[in-house]
Amino acid sequence: MPLFDNHGRSINYLRLAVTDRCNLRCFYCMPAEGISYVPKMELLTYEEMERLVRILAEMGISKVRITGGEPFVRRDLVGFLHKLVGIPGIDEVHITTNGVLTTPYVAELKAMGITSVNLSLDTFDRQRFQEITRRDEFDRVLDCFHALLDHNIPTKINAVVMEGRNTQDIVPLTELTRQYPVSVRFIEEMPFNGKGSHYPVLVWTHRKILEVLQQHYPTIEKIPDSPTSTSYNYQIPGHQGTVGIIAAFSRTFCGTCNRIRLTAQGTLKTCLYDQGVMDIKKILREGASDDLIRQAFAQAFRNRAKDGFEAEQQYRQQSVSESMSTIGG
Ligand code: SAM
Ligand code: SF4
Repeated sequence: MPLFDNHGRSINYLRLAVTDRCNLRCFYCMPAEGISYVPKMELLTYEEMERLVRILAEMGISKVRITGGEPFVRRDLVGFLHKLVGIPGIDEVHITTNGVLTTPYVAELKAMGITSVNLSLDTFDRQRFQEITRRDEFDRVLDCFHALLDHNIPTKINAVVMEGRNTQDIVPLTELTRQYPVSVRFIEEMPFNGKGSHYPVLVWTHRKILEVLQQHYPTIEKIPDSPTSTSYNYQIPGHQGTVGIIAAFSRTFCGTCNRIRLTAQGTLKTCLYDQGVMDIKKILREGASDDLIRQAFAQAFRNRAKDGFEAEQQYRQQSVSESMSTIGG
């Protein structure tokens, strides 16, 4: 049954953060120290997540992305994934991971039919990797990249583009598309680093990223974007893979947004930029029936902000201090 919001947008995509914990400390996502993780009791259990996904699947959600924090730091993630892929109505299960702990599971992910994996990798330089993530795990991430390709799992590389940090990596990362059938996506940096700080004006906008690509690859061509794509997609003639640019800060994609988010502590977000529109865990733990939960979801979908700017205005008075590790990207 197709599900629509109050702006006529169909909703079929759930981004599910299974943990807020992480084994890296990417500076654009988390502070180096002093992170207060959500107490374990406050995280949704796998059973609760499974129940919510079943209900949402009955309502029209057909695609789920597992994210976090780092999904693979949560114990028995793979057991949960097996359950998820078996839920009627869920046609696609995708994962976003930093790749540090992922490689040993890649064959099993392939066997269970995981649709695709987004691997976060902001640089191809070991030193810069360490500076950005504050951890020395470059080799394990690279191993994961090769394991995903060896197992023919459709793979995208996510790279956040940051002034003074990794703009020299735009071309080397794009070069991956020459040899490999991967989609490399450059993401505008968003103000979600858990500290409330951000540049007054975003320097590396989607336009500026495209300029660099066009300068280096004059023959780069625009290719069609899927109707709900968050990325503008391109291909360089002769390359096996594609390049995408995600205007995450400029928010050019809200008009076709088909996604909702569940944070690790069970808060429903109907926009990346809202502060959470419903405490679904509370409703769940108060003993609500499936019907009541369905009604609560339906009510939230009928009151969705028009776009990220409207959602943000609703809590603009506070400084933006959420970390992407609790939202799930
Ligand atoms: N730990 C996993 C990973 O890094 O792939 C999954 C969670 S992470 C929050 C999901 C995505 O959000 C990653 O691709 C990451 O690069 C992106 N992200 C995190 N903070 C961001 C920010 N401030 N601006 C833009 N993208 C961000
Ligand atoms: Fe961890 Fe992913 Fe955030 Fe980096 S972007 S700190 S890997 S959750």
